[in-house]
Order: sequence, then structure tokens, then C-alpha cells
Amino acid sequence: MNIINLKDKNLYYIGGVVRDELLGCKSFDVDLTYNGDAIEFAHTIKDAEILRINNPFGTVKIKLNGEEIDIASTRSETYPQKGHLPVVEKIACSLKEDVMRRDFTINAMAKSTLTGEIIDYTGGMDDLKNKKIRVLHDDSFIDDPTRILRALKFSVRFGFDLDEHTKKLQDEYLKNINYDMSYKRLKKELEETFNLNNWSAFERFINQGIYKLVASQDFELPKYDFSKLISEFKPENIWIIYVGLMPDISALPLTKIEKNIVEKFKDLAILRFAQNDIFTDFEVYKAFKNIPIESVIMYSTINHEIVEHYLKDLKDIELEITGEDLKKLGISPSPKYQECFNFILKKKIKNIQLSKDEEIKFAKEFFCKTQNFYN
Ligand code: ATP
Repeated sequence: MNIINLKDKNLYYIGGVVRDELLGCKSFDVDLTYNGDAIEFAHTIKDAEILRINNPFGTVKIKLNGEEIDIASTRSETYPQKGHLPVVEKIACSLKEDVMRRDFTINAMAKSTLTGEIIDYTGGMDDLKNKKIRVLHDDSFIDDPTRILRALKFSVRFGFDLDEHTKKLQDEYLKNINYDMSYKRLKKELEETFNLNNWSAFERFINQGIYKLVASQDFELPKYDFSKLISEFKPENIWIIYVGLMPDISALPLTKIEKNIVEKFKDLAILRFAQNDIFTDFEVYKAFKNIPIESVIMYSTINHEIVEHYLKDLKDIELEITGEDLKKLGISPSPKYQECFNFILKKKIKNIQLSKDEEIKFAKEFFCKTQNFYN
């Protein structure tokens, strides 16, 4: 664990960092909670510089010996609007009350910064040993359905299963989803889950009906497992390759880039139906070259042979010849330029070793054949 340089009898590591230490995994961040008012506590720390205070949440950021440290006050929360952000009920509540607002027992343990003692009010240790993900109360998914995705994320990350009762609560919720929820938070969990590029997460997402949180229409698991293409070709926006396959994800607040990936995939899917398949390498190249690699990988669920062929054999083919080279040959710019490039491209697809000189030779050949004015 990333031990911070601050110890106090009321200061605890809490949540994921404790879980990860017990599992022997690396933690992404260190959450600290002060059993009481963290802001008051921060003012008493010798040599600490207070960088930021958030009074409504009782959190504070300090700088101590060059290290930036976030400390939260213990707080309890309620969900007046189910599925949306909770509101703070009480700041400086007991550690036990703080722990009870959390998602799963494995994320609800605290460790004293002073003695190293683990405080486990909810049976998190046993669940860690038994590899179980268990909610803390029966309304947990109703309060916050993003926890269903968090459960999926942790089960895939650690190889855990949902405890039986928790699975029952999940199934009940998924039969009766309240779609008035925060899709921004849901999106964050989708990103974290599917950026893991784990096919088994996608299988569970679909087979357990979790996808219904996002898309109300039925959706089946694609037959082709494209996770290996993602590992090999390393696209930037992994999660959208999975989630964007669903029929309607308009509820999610997508970025421009993500929207474009989904739209381009849909265009490709239509292209297949309109043209009843793509035939030559040149056509495959032209269809895929200028669209995001994420959309191309999504298309592998429709025709994986073509996508594999494109990614492995065609994707990196580029002409070296430019419009400037044609100008130097004395040919004035016209739509014929594009025709010429396509002519050379067809040659280069057949022989990727083609040098720039050879490309220029083909350009001359093209203009000799097609135009009288070239000398
Ligand atoms: P990761 O390793 O993915 O960061 P984490 O457990 O640290 O996992 P965070 O999202 O950083 O997850 O949250 C920190 C802690 O806050 C969790 O361990 C959990 O106790 C609590 N928490 C986070 N999200 C929720 C939620 N939706 N409902 C209840 N508690 C939550």
C-alpha cells in the first residue's frame, strides 16, 4: 500500500486501498477518512498547508512534506432521489455509519494509520477469503444501480463471484429498472469495466441482463470475441467498442469522439447490407481506412475475416507520392489526381514494397494512358 506520512488514532485508510492491500494488489489511489471532522483535524496538523476545503462534503486536501493528501470526514448519506447522487446526511458521524454507506463488504474495511488494526464491521475479510461480492443492505442497487456495474468490474478484476443473495437482488433490480438515474456515473463505471478488455465481463454483462441498464432493447452476445484484436491493435477508446454495439445507447453522455465511433460503425453495418459484402482488397481498404479503428473492430462482429485481413495486411499501407509530386510532373490539379492515387494504391496493395520512384512511374503511366496532354 502507498503508506502516507501521517498517523493519527482517528485517521484510517478506507475502502479500496485496504481491500487491495489484503489481496496483495496494487492500489490506484489512497482514500483516508478521519473519524470525526477532517477539516478541523487538518488545521491541527503541524507543518501542513491546507490546499482545498470542501465544506459540504467535509473533505480537505493538504500538503505535508511535499506530499498531497486528501482526507474525508466520516459521513453518512441518504438517497432522496434513487439512482442519483446521494446527499450528505451527517458529517463527523461514527466510522461504522460511514462504512454503511459503501457499496460492498470488501470495500467497507478501514485500517488504522496508527496501529494498523483492521476495522471490519460488515464481514469484508470473510468475503475476501471466500471471493464474494456482497452488498451491505437489500436496497443497495435501488439506491445506486451503478453498483451493479461496480460488482461486475470487481468480480472480473479479482475473479470473485456475487454472493447468492446479492445476485438475487441484482436480478430483481434488473427486472424492474428505474431508468431515472445518473447516466454520467453509469458511463464512468462502464468505461472502467470495459477498458479492462475482458470478454468474460462482456459475457456476464449480456447474459445476466446488466446491459438493460443502458439499452432497453434485447441484445445478444456477438459470436466473435474481438478482445484479442483490441490487445493486438491497442485502440484508445476500448470501452465504446463493447458498449457501442448495443442498439440504442443514447442515454449515455458520449463525447464527440465516442459518438463518431458508433456512427461510423453503423455506417459500415449499413454498407454491408447495401452492397451485400465487400469484395476486393482495394474496396476493403477504402471502406476502413479513414474511419476510427474502434469502428473497424466493432465491424468484426459482422465480418471478422475482413476485419482481421484489413488490420493485419492492409491497415498500414500508405502512398508516398503526393499532389506536390504530380505538380512537379507538370500535371495541374484536377479530380484526376484522386483517380491516379487510386490507380497507384491498387498496385501498392498488391505489392506493398513499392517505392516512391515506382509510384511516380505508375503516375506517369496513369496520365499517359488517360490524358493526352502529359508528355
Ligand atoms: P478502484 O481500485 O477501482 O479505484 P475503489 O474501491 O478504490 O476501486 P473508488 O471508486 O475509488 O473505488 O471508490 C472508493 C471507495 O468509495 C470504495 O472502495 C467504496 O468504499 C466507496 N464507493 C465508491 N463508489 C461507491 C458507490 N457507488 N456506492 C457506495 N460506495 C462507493
